[in-house]
Amino acid sequence: MLDSIKKMLQQLMGSSSEDSSQATDITFYTLGKFNLGVGKIGPDNRTDIDQSVLKEMYRRVAAGEFNIPVSGTLPEICVDGRTNRQGSRINAPSAAGGSLTMVYGRDLGDSGALNDKTEMQLTIETMDTLKGKGYTTAVHGDDHSNCGCGACAHAQKVYQHITDKIDPIAGLTGNYGIIISDTEKASIVGRAKNRLDHPSFFNEDRSAILQACQDHGANYEELVDAHNELGIAINMRQGTTIDRKAIRTTFGPQYDLFVVDAWTFATAAQELALESNKQDADRIAKAITIQNVATASVLGHSSLPIIPIG
Ligand SMILES: [Zn+2]
Repeated sequence: MLDSIKKMLQQLMGSSSEDSSQATDITFYTLGKFNLGVGKIGPDNRTDIDQSVLKEMYRRVAAGEFNIPVSGTLPEICVDGRTNRQGSRINAPSAAGGSLTMVYGRDLGDSGALNDKTEMQLTIETMDTLKGKGYTTAVHGDDHSNCGCGACAHAQKVYQHITDKIDPIAGLTGNYGIIISDTEKASIVGRAKNRLDHPSFFNEDRSAILQACQDHGANYEELVDAHNELGIAINMRQGTTIDRKAIRTTFGPQYDLFVVDAWTFATAAQELALESNKQDADRIAKAITIQNVATASVLGHSSLPIIPIG
């Protein structure tokens, strides 16, 4: 089923990016269009942006102009649009929280086997499993917060958002070809509720989660400065990510994007599912997708546009 979803998504995004490269003025759906985006990050909260430059950036990103080859096939670094002090990032696929997306996706997509485990235990287990399979993992902080990764700092809020907003979230994913069934919705919301009913699941010290990842082999990026993201790039081009540095060089240092390398989610889910159970893998892939959308919606403003790259 994942293959057919992926194909459908690619067709959908392919046609939209074809349209966009030809059109002079394209509109992209915003988080607000799906009744999402309760955070602050987004173009309507900015006064340092030239609207014509912004439109040009969206159009060229959608056309795939900033896709660069990437090593790795699993989500590894965070969607965060910022860079380290030198202006660069690890060259690897992106998802909300970096490798932590696999922890939360595994938890939310689980069918009950993980009930007794805490967030900390799942984090350590997942990092060890990935390391054991030869994968590179990564997390990040920033230069001015105790836990500078929004996906980690607000994990509990993201679970709450999933229970409150599953229909709008599924509405967004459905618009890009990822159909989440009522059964899958119920299962994933049930998992989130279970965790929220037992809040000791979540580690109180959020930076300890980032530290545990590093203690179990994850690379660490220290990102700097404020969030300047102006859109969410959903990248479906296999083997690529979006070059954040090139976007800044082209449009200006205040032009950043959240980058979601959604093409990695199916592979990530296959690695996490027990004994390669297809139904489990499908549900985990949907859970990773939902965790990514929910994180964007918690951090991002309703004015944030979604820019599919097929
Ligand atoms: Zn992050």
